[in-house]
Amino acid sequence: MRMFLWDFTSPARDGAIENDIVIHENTHGVTNRMTGGGTGRCLQTTEAGGMGEGWSDAMADWNAQGATTADFVLGQWVTNNPAGIRSHPYSTSATTNPLRYSSLKTLTEVHAIGEVWANMLHNVYASLVSAHGWSATARTNPDGTEGNIVFLHLFLDALLLQPCNPTFIAARNAWIQADANRYAGANKCVLWHAFASRGLGVNAANHNDDSTVPAGC
Ligand SMILES: [Zn+2]
Repeated sequence: MRMFLWDFTSPARDGAIENDIVIHENTHGVTNRMTGGGTGRCLQTTEAGGMGEGWSDAMADWNAQGATTADFVLGQWVTNNPAGIRSHPYSTSATTNPLRYSSLKTLTEVHAIGEVWANMLHNVYASLVSAHGWSATARTNPDGTEGNIVFLHLFLDALLLQPCNPTFIAARNAWIQADANRYAGANKCVLWHAFASRGLGVNAANHNDDSTVPAGC
């Protein structure tokens, strides 16, 4: 894995010693290999590549969380700046982070698109932890029922289910299918509510927001 020196500070700071940067880069290796059957060539469209950046931020976010879900900022140390390297903190507050599915209408850069996806996943994470609690041993025990463990299972399962070069819609559908497969759909409504809260509801399409959830949710 190729890491870089950041020149925001003097002396420069090495991205290899900030956990969230290392996790971000490592997760590119995971998402590129797990999407589309291991070809490493299935996050090539702008939208899919954008989600690639988003998964990488979301994995760093997952690692940083504790018993109470907090806003997450990437790259604070390499920049020596509490605002980090993204436009907004990842947050359950739509005031703190107003990014929604329809933000894709005007975003063209993969990291910026990734922020929309990572913020949706932050909200999915927060909802699952709210529903099922938080495990302090999630890094070493994948068998727990807590929300942070459920989140990571669905995160990884969905990568394998989604098609080559997924859209946001296809990636959301993969999360719903992953939950149907692993948990018999126990989290279906939690997932739909979280995605729909940021515009990726049932009738979302072509970067137009929709906040609808399925009947029964
Ligand atoms: Zn990246």
